[in-house]
Amino acid sequence: MENKPALLSARNIRRAFTSAGARLEVLRGVDLSLRHGESLALTGESGSGKSTLVHILAGLELPDAGEVEIEGTPLNRLSEAGRARLRRETIGIVFQQFNLIPSLDAGANIAFQARLAGRHDPDHVTRLAGRLGLAGHLHKYPEELSGGQQQRVAIGRALAARPALILADEPTGNLDEATADEVLALMLELVAEAGAALLMVTHSVRLAARLDRQLQLSRGRIFA
Ligand code: ADP
Ligand code: MG
Repeated sequence: MENKPALLSARNIRRAFTSAGARLEVLRGVDLSLRHGESLALTGESGSGKSTLVHILAGLELPDAGEVEIEGTPLNRLSEAGRARLRRETIGIVFQQFNLIPSLDAGANIAFQARLAGRHDPDHVTRLAGRLGLAGHLHKYPEELSGGQQQRVAIGRALAARPALILADEPTGNLDEATADEVLALMLELVAEAGAALLMVTHSVRLAARLDRQLQLSRGRIFA
């Protein structure tokens, strides 16, 4: 156990953007690591680079410098296809904008990533949907669902393939406060039951307090 690599580790991540001739150093040497089953909240002001960091941790974007490892595998040494495969097998992502597929009903949206990962289990989808309060809604399309229901579908989709890691980027940012609390509680419960690790971006200190650890991104660096 002692020698088991961290589930996720990032070392000295740097990322800058150039827009209108100005160079903006968004991430200036970010280190973090997450163990299996651990939950981590990442807070920070709007524009501090939280989404950029999540994209890099998911292998959706490469950093300018630094290294991300998932269970000891360095993401930047994989091809784009290799990163996509690792992401499908290991990571479930929940976005602020839900990002459901409009042409698929709720059930097919939940099953989508598990199918891609070759791990579709209809009984698991049914169980998850039940836990998410979506049992009667599986044949509805995203546009027929409320925001809270759409985000519960997105959480189901992220969990259906049984990933070791869930990355959630302001998952309740588009919901009113009562719905946000309910959806977050449900997500934390299901993530814990699945034994998955969670890295959740939020700008709410109140929501962050419910996770095992809290880190803040500020001026391109991470603070405890
Ligand atoms: P957060 O999620 O914390 O609000 P982001 O990671 O979305 O912050 O953005 C951090 C900063 O980087 C912002 O100033 C944003 O405008 C800039 N940025 C993000 N992506 C790009 C991009 N593709 N091109 C240029 N600037 C970008
Ligand atoms: Mg963001």
